Amino acid sequence: MAKLYFKYGAMNSGKSTILIQTAHNYESLGMKVLVMKPKTDKKGDNYVVSRIGAKRKIDYFIEDGDNLYEFIRKYHKNINCLLIDEAHFLEAKQIDELLLIAAELDIAVICYGLRCDFKLNAFEGGARLLEIADKLEEIKTICKCGHKATINVRKVNDNYVFDGNQVAIDGFENVTYESMCPKCYFEIKNNVKNLD
Ligand SMILES: [Zn+2]
Repeated sequence: MAKLYFKYGAMNSGKSTILIQTAHNYESLGMKVLVMKPKTDKKGDNYVVSRIGAKRKIDYFIEDGDNLYEFIRKYHKNINCLLIDEAHFLEAKQIDELLLIAAELDIAVICYGLRCDFKLNAFEGGARLLEIADKLEEIKTICKCGHKATINVRKVNDNYVFDGNQVAIDGFENVTYESMCPKCYFEIKNNVKNLD
C-alpha cells in the first residue's frame, strides 16, 4: 500500500528543492508524477521555486472545496506519485482525501509544508497531516546561532512582528520570514515587547 508522507520544516529548509529533486528522480525512472500546490501560495505563480534556483512548473493549483480524491481517480489514476508543495494551506478534508488516494488508489502522496505559523499555531492542513500522515519527516535547517531552526518569524518592512493574519506570503506586501530556534525567537519577542 502506498503512503501519505508529510515532510515538514521551517522556511529555508529546502523543502521545494527536495520536491523538485524527488519529481526528477521518479521521472528519470520512467514514472509519472503530478505536482500540485494550493492557490493560496502566490509565490512563483505556477512554479515551485527553490531558493537555490531550481524551478518546476506545477500541473494544477488546488482551490478550497476541490475534491482531490475524485480528481485523481477520474483523471490521473495512472500516476506513481503526487507531490504537493505548501500543503499546510490545504483544507483538513483535502488531507483526508490524500490519505484515501494513497490507501485506495495506491499512489504515493508526498506533502511538503510548515508545521506551524509565525504565532506558533497550526495551519488547518498542517494539523491534519500531523494527525493522519503515515510517515512524518522533519527537514532540518539551522538558526543563525547554530541550533536547529523550527520557528518562522515574520518581518514586515524588515521589522519583527508577532501579530497579524495567519497567511501572509513571503515576498508579498513587504513580508519576509526568518527561521529561528526557540531561544532566539523568545529573545527577539521579549525585546520587541520591551520597546512597546
Ligand atoms: Zn537560535
